[in-house]
This record gives sequence, structure tokens and C-alpha cells, in this order.
Amino acid sequence: MANVKFFSGEQIPLEMHKVRIVQKLNLPPVEERLKCIAEAGNNTFLLKNKDVYMDMLTDSGVNAMSDRQQAAMLVADDSYAGSATFTKLENKVGEIFGTKYFLPAHQGRACENIIAMTFVKEGNVIPMNFHFTTPKAHITRLGARVEELLVDEGLKVTSDCLFKGNMDLNKLEKFIVENREKIPFIRMEAGTNLIGGQPFELSNARGVSAIAKKYGIMTVLDASLWQDNLYFIKQREAACKDMSLREITLELAKCFDIIYFSGRKLGFARGGGIATNSKELCEKMKELVPLFEGFLTYGGMSVREMEAMVVGLDETMDEDVISQGPQFIKYMTDEFLKAGVPVVTPAGGLGCHLDATRFIPQVPQTQYPAGSLACAAYIAGGIRGMERGTISEEREPDGSERMAAVELLRLAVPRRVYTLSQIKYVIDRIIWLYENRNLVGGLKFVEEPKVLRFFFGRLEPIGDWQQKLAEKFRADFGDSL
Ligand SMILES: *Cc1c(COP(=O)(O)O)cnc(C)c1O
Repeated sequence: MANVKFFSGEQIPLEMHKVRIVQKLNLPPVEERLKCIAEAGNNTFLLKNKDVYMDMLTDSGVNAMSDRQQAAMLVADDSYAGSATFTKLENKVGEIFGTKYFLPAHQGRACENIIAMTFVKEGNVIPMNFHFTTPKAHITRLGARVEELLVDEGLKVTSDCLFKGNMDLNKLEKFIVENREKIPFIRMEAGTNLIGGQPFELSNARGVSAIAKKYGIMTVLDASLWQDNLYFIKQREAACKDMSLREITLELAKCFDIIYFSGRKLGFARGGGIATNSKELCEKMKELVPLFEGFLTYGGMSVREMEAMVVGLDETMDEDVISQGPQFIKYMTDEFLKAGVPVVTPAGGLGCHLDATRFIPQVPQTQYPAGSLACAAYIAGGIRGMERGTISEEREPDGSERMAAVELLRLAVPRRVYTLSQIKYVIDRIIWLYENRNLVGGLKFVEEPKVLRFFFGRLEPIGDWQQKLAEKFRADFGDSL
């Protein structure tokens, strides 16, 4: 977004694009919302889109495409093998990351499956700055485990640390010395998702790379949220101030042996892929692509999406484009702070994160405060956020509950999708909810799947707090939706 000052002195983010295709939205009345959340098993993943006004569940596959992306989709070369579209994508990924080899996959987790199946063995341990749900599930499925070596500041919900996603290099080296034989690779996650879309520094990635080289360990970058991390490096890391976005990206890529990404986030389309400069590593992973994804020149992606991704990756190198999300998120975060609503600070990428632990301290962690807050936000405003707390964890092998380090409600801001008035509406309804936070109670599971339970588990409220919250809404807002 451009640097535009308002005469009024108000500080608001200004969109550097205009909207030319729209989708009608529906906001059901609060009584309906109460029914919808019950039907969805108090799991926002199970709500129907038609019942959602602000879909802030995720930034995955829901970012708006540009006119240039739409145009590119019309000229896709649709063939099973040898598609010219694939060559374009391969070249674009090579141009952005400076890599020679590219393996396509249908989305980010498919890359994780291929990497895990190729390199992870039972009993292994994979050090990382912080885990994310899908890579962790792929690693634990194979009988290995993850070790989080984030800087201590990363887990502080409120902080003024600008790079909460940094790896603690001392902890990393110590851990490697003690566990060298068990470590197939080190994983770094850009825009560290579960702690609130928090970035790491380029200098930190270089530090990780140097340690990995010293001990002869492979490095893997999850670049799904690289666009946010890139924007923050450009804004916050003094040494990178005069580097272009392309230069920063190329420098970062040098720190990693394997780079994978979800094209549902990076590239404003749907798909994913794995890039590397090593022929040997590429050969090792390659055979799993036709087995699980599709032939090597599409990997389960539609060629139209691949064309869109080629353009989307280019747009990622434009600061006007990648600053939109972080600036909207900062605006939300600042407004919440003014109203005393507990949020993750500093504002990160991908979404604004409410701190459920402080928002509703009356709900104990065993009753899933972040999940409860997700239900309450839907009742309060037809807002669909995502629980990022204990429900998103999996139980320990002995069946006991593994309490999340932080209980967050993520309000994702899909890129280029919403306008500022819609963001203001969300802020308004969340502030109302905060004023009425004493009405919010807990949840319990009624159906609990063993794997990735947050996707399809069903819960119910403990007591009748949801009715009371809806009644209070009606009393305060009259006949308003
Ligand atoms: C979304 C995401 C993934 C998984 O990508 P999908 O395309 O949704 O499978 C992996 N890592 C991170 C950091 C993500 O944000």
C-alpha cells in the first residue's frame, strides 16, 4: 500500500486495487446464527458458507485473484504431460527462489507428505522454530516427533519483539549436539502460523543455515507464508532496508536445501510445490509425485491454477500487493488495543489473533477457550474465525490432553478480499463481545476424531451461555442483524 497521508490525520490503510468482481454476502439474524453454530457442532470449520458474513477462517485458497491472473488462466496449456504451463511455473519458481528443480503438488500438506515420507524415519526428531498442524501430523504419523526451538519471546502473546518467529540458535545447536543422529532435517516456517503469523529475520535464517552446515544437516523452509514474512523483513530488518523484495527472497532461499509452499497462500492461487537446487534431493522425492499427486508436470494442480500462480508469484514481489494484509491486520490490532481487547502483539501476518486466555479468563483450558471464543464471535457477528489453541493440538500418546502453549482465535484476513468497512464491522462486533465477555462459557467434545480433530470434531456448549449471549445481542441491537 502506498504511503498516503490523510488530511484529517486519520491513519487508515488505503487499498491499491479496485474490485471488479463481487460475491453477494448473507448475514443471518442472531437467532439463526445460534442454530447454525449448534448444527456445525460448535466447530467453525463445519459452518456453511451461506451462513457466514465475514469468512475469516483462513487465508488458504481464498485470496482474491488479480485481473492479470484471471487473464493468464485463459491461456493455460492443458495436457497430461509436457505442459508449457508447467515450464512457466517451474521457471517462475526458479526465478523467485533461484532454484533449479521444481516438483508440483496439489497443496502445501502434500509437499509435507512427500518430504516426510522421503526423509523421516521412526524415532526421528525434527527441530523447527514452531510446529504447524499439517507438517506435525505428517511427522508424527511416521513415528517421529517435532522439537520446537523458538526464541522465548515468541510464546509471549504480547511483546514488542519484531521477530517472534526466530529460531533460538543456542537451543538449536545444543539440541543438535545431543540428538545429531536422530535429525533428518531442520524445518523453518516463514510467517510462523500458530503463534500469530510472526516473522523470522533473514539473519536468523542465515544462522540456522550456518549451524546446519556445521553439523551436515539438511534445511527445509516452509515458505507458505513467505509473503508476510518478506514484508516484515523489508519493514523491520535494518540490514535489508535497501534490498529489493526479490533480493531478500533470493538471499533467504540460499539458506535452505529444500523450499516448499502452499500455493493456496503464496501465489494467490491453489496448489503447491517443492523447489531445490539439489538434483539428488529432487530425485529422492520425485517418485512420490506421480504416486500421490499426479504426473510430474501438474502434480494434482489444474493448469489454470498453475498459470494464475505464475502471475501470483510475480505479484508477491510487489510491496503494494503484499502490504495489504499486514496493514489491515495492524489496523485491527491497533483498534483492539485502544478498546482494551487482548490481542497478539506485534500485529503479524495472515490474520489478527485474539488472546482467548485473557479475553475469557473464566473458561479453563480444559474447556477450550479459543474454541468457545470462535463460537461467540460467530454468534456476535456472523464472523467465522479459527480456533488455534488446544483443540488444534492432538492428544498425547497416553490419551491425555495436550494443552496448547497459547489459546488464540485467529481472524484471518484473506488477501485483497475485504474492504475496510467490513474490517470495521468485525472490530465493532468483537468489542461488543469483549464488553459482554462474562457471558461466554466453555465447550466439550461430543465427537472427537483421533487425527486433526479440529477439522471435523463436534462439540457442545457447557450450559446455556450461547442463548444468553444471543439474548443480550438482541437486547442491545434491537432489530439489527
Ligand atoms: C497453510 C499452511 C500449510 C498447509 O498448506 P495447505 O495448502 O493448506 O495444505 C503449511 N504450512 C503453513 C505455514 C501454512 O500456513
